[in-house]
Amino acid sequence: MSTFTSLGLNENLLKAITDMGFETPSEVQQKTIPLLLERETDLVSLAQTGTGKTAAFGFPMLQKIDAASKTTQGLILSPTRELCMQIANEMNSYGKYVKGLNVVAIYGGASISEQAKQIKRGAQIIVATPGRMKDMIGRRMIDISKIEYCVLDEADEMLNMGFYEDITEILSHSPESKSTWLFSATMPKEVASIAKKFMHTPVEITVGSKNVSTNTVSHEYYLVNARDRYAALKRLCDANPDIFSVIFCRTKRDTQKVAEQLITDGYNAAALHGDLSQNQRDIVMKSFRNRQIQMLVATDVAARGIDVDDITHVINYQLPDEIETYTHRSGRTGRAGKSGVSIVIVSKSEVRKIHSIEKMIQKKFEQKDIPGGMEICEVQLFHLANSIKNTEINHEIDAYLPNINEVLADFSKEELIKKVFTVEFTRFYNYYKKTKDLNTLSGGNVDYAESDGKDSTRYFINIGAKDDFDWMTLKDFLRDLLDLQKDDVYKVDVKDSFSFFNTDTVHQELVMGVFNDFKLDGRNISIEISKDRGGRGRSGGGRGRSDRDRGGRSSSRSGGGFKGKSSGGDRGGFKKRSESGDDRPKFAGKSRRRNEKPKNAGTGGKRRRRS
Ligand code: ADP
Ligand code: MG
Repeated sequence: MSTFTSLGLNENLLKAITDMGFETPSEVQQKTIPLLLERETDLVSLAQTGTGKTAAFGFPMLQKIDAASKTTQGLILSPTRELCMQIANEMNSYGKYVKGLNVVAIYGGASISEQAKQIKRGAQIIVATPGRMKDMIGRRMIDISKIEYCVLDEADEMLNMGFYEDITEILSHSPESKSTWLFSATMPKEVASIAKKFMHTPVEITVGSKNVSTNTVSHEYYLVNARDRYAALKRLCDANPDIFSVIFCRTKRDTQKVAEQLITDGYNAAALHGDLSQNQRDIVMKSFRNRQIQMLVATDVAARGIDVDDITHVINYQLPDEIETYTHRSGRTGRAGKSGVSIVIVSKSEVRKIHSIEKMIQKKFEQKDIPGGMEICEVQLFHLANSIKNTEINHEIDAYLPNINEVLADFSKEELIKKVFTVEFTRFYNYYKKTKDLNTLSGGNVDYAESDGKDSTRYFINIGAKDDFDWMTLKDFLRDLLDLQKDDVYKVDVKDSFSFFNTDTVHQELVMGVFNDFKLDGRNISIEISKDRGGRGRSGGGRGRSDRDRGGRSSSRSGGGFKGKSSGGDRGGFKKRSESGDDRPKFAGKSRRRNEKPKNAGTGGKRRRRS
């Protein structure tokens, strides 16, 4: 059996190794350390996460540099700030008996002048993220013209995150004569090409099998109407109760909007984008890592630094402008040999992009249907059953048990199960029984019919702007009164003393019935079926209206919605439902399950919007 002594390491390093409690070198260490100690060579080393790669390059580098000199001799590039700090710490532990050693970590989001000061003291080894490194070279704060060793750690991740150009730029400031050691868990084409470009006949070492983790991501897409995008997202989340995911949007604004909506609807979500301060981003990332946040809604730029291993789903809420970005996104899941799913929600006009992506990634997408409401109810029931099964009993409840038992004494186990599950089932059931199929192929037929105007009824109603309604508040009023879904009342057109609106013809009887003998503030409200069907096309009622109208809609929303005539007053006996949009049923524990500190989730999401 191989030992660290037999690898050729010197006394100082062996002492540190004993201190750290390492007994035998790992496979990648056994293969790499003697080679790098003996020869000046370029190296490509492929090994999974957690196999001890840091020591594999760290020990040889520490043994080969001259700690008596203050010149920077070694550079280690790594994808994230967390990894940078981790590697710098490891290097300091390994080198604790190396006199005069100064290892400095360079990464974004911390004071650049403080980092420059540390470099000035003379750092033999610099551990850096590409972005900050490039920045500091550009400002002449760092000189790497004399380095002898350069490590590209987690090369696949660095390329995934879009650091190719930064790396090229950095290396152009380093000498040709240096040795480059590349470490990677996988060997995608991009890594092979970087090896070819920057290295001279590198020795190749492989531990375990090549490429194991590149095939662990499956790609799926869901075709929906553009206006159903958010509803589809919610269903996908509801159908995956244990989801731990990054949701990508195109803009900061959309990122913030989707996160806020998810939070309002009771999910553990937060936004991550460039308008947050570094401190806020750190808090969001920490909550995400601790699983207090289940859904992180992010822009591409902000997501660069995400190095969380167990992400189950990447959701492309919107496709990126450049399809190349898709690879970076999907690379957030399926890490460290685990499997993952990359989901794209697309509208009809975007389907061709899916085909371009397939060509680029050389993999097929599977087209799937948005799960139906009953399917989700079923999933949630089984999830609840499993949660109950796995729940550890909290003995704080012991004191209350006698009374509880008395209340429930008459029921058998079977009856109790039925009751408990009915309580939970009914919430989801009531929400989903009214919702329709979101898949455009099946649901799409309905939509065509509507846009032809065939199955739509237009009504005339004798309330209007002089009753303090605008199209948005009238729409909300009708929808609530009729207990219909948001999109079931459309083409709302408010005139001064009367208005028009449409519903699908199936709702005609309901509408006429509700308004038969209806009073608002004591006044008789009459409704008639209009001859005018409201023209072609179905829209939210706001289409074609001025932007100011639309702006009015959102401000009235965030202010809690309803701006009817006698605000707060009793509108003819009609009481408004909650306006928050929080009509999503909440399973017990759903929003609290992992959320010990619910405030954290709001740090990212509930922020004031700055767009
Ligand atoms: P990788 O970079 O391959 O993901 P790391 O270098 O981060 O892996 O090492 C993973 C962990 O294993 C670290 O905590 C490190 O201290 C520890 N480790 C590395 N080599 C050994 C060894 N030979 N014996 C015991 N623990 C080790
Ligand atoms: Mg590592």
